[in-house]
Amino acid sequence: MRHTIIIGGGITGLAAAYSLQKESHGAIAVTLIEGSQRLGGKIMTARAGGFLVEGGPDSFLARKTVTLDLCRELGLEDQLQPARAGKFPTYVWSGGRLHPLPMGVRPMVGSRLISLAGKLRMAAEVLIPPRELDGDESVASFVRRRFGSEMLVKLAGPLMGGIYAADPERLSLGSTFSFLQVMEKKYGSVLRGWKKARGGSKGGRSMFLTLRGGLLQLAEALETAIGPGVVERGVQVAAVLPQQGRYEVVLEDGRSLTADDVVFATPAYVTADLVEYIDTALAEHLRAIRYVTTATVSLGFREQDVPRALDGFGFVVPRMEQRRINACTWTSTKFEGRAPDGHVLMRVFVGGAGAEAFAELTDDALVALARQEVDAAMNIGAEPVMAKVFRWTKGNPQYEVGHRGRVEEIEALAAKHRGLYLAGAAYHGAGIPDCIENAQAVVRQLVGKYGISHQAATGHVVPAAAR
Ligand SMILES: Cc1cc2nc3c(=O)[nH]c(=O)nc-3n(C[C@H](O)[C@H](O)[C@H](O)COP(=O)(O)OP(=O)(O)OC[C@H]3O[C@@H](n4cnc5c(N)ncnc54)[C@H](O)[C@@H]3O)c2cc1C
Repeated sequence: MRHTIIIGGGITGLAAAYSLQKESHGAIAVTLIEGSQRLGGKIMTARAGGFLVEGGPDSFLARKTVTLDLCRELGLEDQLQPARAGKFPTYVWSGGRLHPLPMGVRPMVGSRLISLAGKLRMAAEVLIPPRELDGDESVASFVRRRFGSEMLVKLAGPLMGGIYAADPERLSLGSTFSFLQVMEKKYGSVLRGWKKARGGSKGGRSMFLTLRGGLLQLAEALETAIGPGVVERGVQVAAVLPQQGRYEVVLEDGRSLTADDVVFATPAYVTADLVEYIDTALAEHLRAIRYVTTATVSLGFREQDVPRALDGFGFVVPRMEQRRINACTWTSTKFEGRAPDGHVLMRVFVGGAGAEAFAELTDDALVALARQEVDAAMNIGAEPVMAKVFRWTKGNPQYEVGHRGRVEEIEALAAKHRGLYLAGAAYHGAGIPDCIENAQAVVRQLVGKYGISHQAATGHVVPAAAR
């Protein structure tokens, strides 16, 4: 029987293991090795004092249906929970107050967030000719070129950069918000494209979904579906060595395992170290994908201690404000059931490109920082009844300008090594649906190599050539 080792038990590795078992109909033995004691990787749900706290992702995009399909397949359908729909604005913390994010023409006209000159410049977007050059550019360059600097620093920067904990000046438009490039090309203007797209959308449905018990439910359901005897946890892979057409996977406890195929579902810089003995050029290219450190601080308060209504999904903070936090999600407004009765839950985002030092503070200092900042923004001087810090050291891959080309080079180098596969947040999208899609694509490639098909579900590997 062929043997595949998957390294890394985050959502990518788990989805790959599940999908490989399914697609190979038991014809490939699967081992998943997770370095820590816990599966899920960045997916980290905790319960503290009656609050349901997410340390990493709190939701996934509903539009990319792969996660939804997987949840249904795993029997989690009744656990699916949309973010609250309706009129819940996001705010921008600017000039000492929270401004509702102006969505649409009328709110924009009335907004005190953007100056008159800034508004006029934004409206002039329809007159700006599309870029003639093909190829990637930074999010900042695109937004500045089409909408002007004020839109960039006050809206697009914190919103678009914030998702990736990235500097918009370095963030690749083509690898993150490529639909904007498409709109510019197709309609000559993003605003015109937007109008067309909105005309066709049904609206009213939430963009984000989560699971009632937290996203860790997805990792747990995958673990259950994968079954016993597959997952080895609490042991790091130290190196992977080529061995006569197969691979020797060396564990830090001194053991080694042999595999025909290895799926590296680890962060790119870890994968770089692991493939060093197979291909130094591949390792170098993988190291070129930068990561930044971030932290989240969840704070639970008594409702009576919060003077303002948490009537939105939270707020983002433009860099020019020179605050120490990037954003704050009003979690108990965004999702039902996250805080006990009479309480609210919020989550503060710290660190990322240009601000990593804040995320590297001690837990106590991070809680103090988060409290001071929410006090300044919302006048909450009271002690929180719950505080929980999660730090993600080198946790967020940076999709910098030219990312797609870099990934193509990496994949071309990897393809030279039979049985070596790369998957995960570093390559084709960092969101949970992207990771699952990437895992499934890699599994299709792997299974396809052996020519295993639904018809060949006999428990034996049928090589394509023999069919
Ligand atoms: C704070 C934060 C908020 C986010 N919010 C969202 C969100 O709301 N929605 C969304 O869709 N996405 C979000 N993301 C992104 C998303 O969570 C991640 O991109 C995704 O979970 C990464 O999954 P992964 O399996 O590729 O990597 P990881 O989760 O990093 O898993 C890699 C695994 O490999 C293991 N490992 C490392 N080295 C070794 C080794 N040598 N041997 C064995 N195992 C090893 C690690 O322990 C880890 O478990 C967020 C990310 C962060 C950090």
